[in-house]
Amino acid sequence: MTATGSPHNLAESPVALAMDWGGTWARAAVIDRQGQPLWQDRVANQPGALQDELVTAAGELLLEAKGNAGGRPIAGAGIALAGSIDAATNMLLSSPNLPALNGVTLPEVWEPMLNMPVWVGNDANLAALGECYYGAGQPMPPQNEPARTLVFVTFSTGVGAGVVDRGEIFMGAAGAAAEVGHMTIDLRADAPACACGNSGCLEAMASGTAIGRAAQARLANATPGAPLQLAYEANAAITGEDVFNAAERGDAVALEVVNDAVAAIIVGMGNVLNLFNPDVVVMGGGVTQGLMQLDLLGRIEDGMRRRAMSSGHRRFQLAPATLGDSQGMVGAASLVWSKTERPVAPDQPGLTP
Ligand SMILES: [Zn+2]
Repeated sequence: MTATGSPHNLAESPVALAMDWGGTWARAAVIDRQGQPLWQDRVANQPGALQDELVTAAGELLLEAKGNAGGRPIAGAGIALAGSIDAATNMLLSSPNLPALNGVTLPEVWEPMLNMPVWVGNDANLAALGECYYGAGQPMPPQNEPARTLVFVTFSTGVGAGVVDRGEIFMGAAGAAAEVGHMTIDLRADAPACACGNSGCLEAMASGTAIGRAAQARLANATPGAPLQLAYEANAAITGEDVFNAAERGDAVALEVVNDAVAAIIVGMGNVLNLFNPDVVVMGGGVTQGLMQLDLLGRIEDGMRRRAMSSGHRRFQLAPATLGDSQGMVGAASLVWSKTERPVAPDQPGLTP
């Protein structure tokens, strides 16, 4: 078949190289504009490897991806990393899962090697971007329009977040904006301590870790033989998941703990509405799974709406994250589109800068 040169000819439309570099694996893929992977592979991070060795191994994987683009034009490479990245220099400042990478500036190393632009982004920001381009931010009833301003919050071991406005990540001056998990919710002196050094943060009240810890602190009030007590006896610890499972079975202490977490989430996410005025709010992570198990997202959405300051702030949809494990990879590809496409997509009103 002869190529026609039409922009609708998929075989000629550009693809992105995407990498999701976590604590154990560097995964790479060639992804088309529809979000479909054309090729993917992964390489394990060698334990104890030096920064140069890790960067070389992951770089070789990207070169392999480049060779597997099937002759399609490549718009660039997007790299998803856990940790904080300096917005001005693209340097990875701290990488909790892979500390050997601290201080590396990947675009500097990989752009000459790949002969294409390379962009890096942190995992929560890229999850937000991926949801905007391919997930919960895509047109759905009743509005049937793509998200203009999307806030993604993941309630997991910690609480991470990203904000996307008109197809682009809202970065902040140093690239550290939208730390929704570290807004103060409880200002009492005995508020729970947070890993960030403050106390009373949303993360300290509604992460999976916090929910498990709150339940454990209340075990003295539990009825012997109740589901939460049994979970504790089985593991000598209580996880957020144990709390949601016990609450589903009517455990009184677990229900109290979940109610407290929901109250904190409503206050925090209500603040998010008033700050960012999103039309789509996406919740992800294991805690969100637990909240869905108890059918609580509707209550959270209603509570947020009650705290919204105007009708413009009340006009939003709350949706669970849809991308699952592919979030990092799809988000990395979305970073390429967000840097190379103006506007985000043709015929989308309101997305022109
Ligand atoms: Zn904090």
